[in-house]
Amino acid sequence: MVGILLRLPGSRTVSGWIAGALAFLAADLLTGSSLQKAVLLNGANLASITAAFLVLRRLPSSVLLLKDQASIPYLLLGSLAGGIAAGFGGMIANPILFGGSAKAGWEFWCVTELANFVTVLPLILGAPAPFANQQPFRRPTLREFAPFAALCLSGLAGVVIGGPGAIVFVVPALLWCGLTYSVFVTALLTTVSGYWIMSQLVMVYLPTTDQGTDSFSLVSYRLGVSLLVLSPVMQAVLSATRRSAIAGLETVANLDPLTHIANRRAFMARAEELLSGATGNVLVLMMDIDHFKRINDNFGHAAGDAVLIEFVHRVKRCLRSCDLFGRLGGEEFALVIPDCSMRQGCMIAERIRQAISSEAMLLADGRYLPITVSIGMAALRGDRIAIHELLQQADQALYAAKDAGRNRIELFTPEQIRDC
Ligand code: GH3
Ligand code: MG
Ligand code: MG
Repeated sequence: MVGILLRLPGSRTVSGWIAGALAFLAADLLTGSSLQKAVLLNGANLASITAAFLVLRRLPSSVLLLKDQASIPYLLLGSLAGGIAAGFGGMIANPILFGGSAKAGWEFWCVTELANFVTVLPLILGAPAPFANQQPFRRPTLREFAPFAALCLSGLAGVVIGGPGAIVFVVPALLWCGLTYSVFVTALLTTVSGYWIMSQLVMVYLPTTDQGTDSFSLVSYRLGVSLLVLSPVMQAVLSATRRSAIAGLETVANLDPLTHIANRRAFMARAEELLSGATGNVLVLMMDIDHFKRINDNFGHAAGDAVLIEFVHRVKRCLRSCDLFGRLGGEEFALVIPDCSMRQGCMIAERIRQAISSEAMLLADGRYLPITVSIGMAALRGDRIAIHELLQQADQALYAAKDAGRNRIELFTPEQIRDC
């Protein structure tokens, strides 16, 4: 219920709370509890839920949904609050319902609820959103499968070798899972491992007293195991935050901040890859906006920036998703078009030229600005040339286009012109 209240803010209404309380009551009554017992037990449940919810509800969503380094300490804090509140419920319920002491009731309920929160909450908070874009299922690679296999093997080794030390056999494999898998998958594996440790290892070796199982040891083991299996979840949270930080840095390092297309560095790296993997013709286009300096001088730098952004939008509309488009600097852009004949390339270049020149660009102050672009083109046909050489060829063609009056397309060699 805490998980639902935290993940679905729409459930935080009076009717939501009443529905939750009634569901708890119904579950107890249907499984044969008396009304008094059901009311007492669920009073404690609701107190525990309220305490955990009050601690966790104001957290920012990144912390709440286990995407932040602070997530696990807060999760522990909320779980502790829930456990303590349940303990007070146990103090009242234990003597009335089970004839036990208030102290034993406090200990047992507090630890049990704390263990439940710590085990179940990461599963609910870390679960992917139901309608989020899911990757289609693919067979895991050996690298992805290895931590899971190690976990199964170390779990089995725990049973075969046995003894009290066996409860920590799975820890290295679980930490490896935390490094490899998502928070949700790690939480799932740690929950299953926790129950496995409790049922297959702890229960078998649990010390006994004259009255049967030593309840203090049981409580202590339960708490210990729950906290133990929380560390791999923490590991998974840290790995995920590190991965997303690296992805963010890569984006910043690869994208031009103004136009959000590849910058020179990313363009060159990706272009080299495209060239080395090419099986057919690859075309390289250099594009330079005509008289761009005048735009800056006459309309201001901000207008120049707006023109650059609109230029990129218009060019993008002429491209396929496999084409590589980058800003090499200033108002110079380059394009790599793989698997494209010279004729098709000329058509694409002409489409771009027209997309820029056919319609004047609208500035923020309402004025319209006619823009044109000059394009130079070179082709890789079978022979291996490095990208910077191809760019030089396209650049030479671009200079020819500028010399010939701008707003036009030129090809690197006359032989290439004949092909077009
Ligand atoms: P040409 O037709 O021969 O290409 O003339 P041009 O004026 O476009 O050529 P030039 O290379 O001399 O001018 C490019 C200008 O682009 C100079 C520089 O101030 C401007 N510029 C470079 N980067 C930016 C930018 O990020 N924003 C804006 N607004 N201007 C930029
Ligand atoms: Mg220019
Ligand atoms: Mg220029």
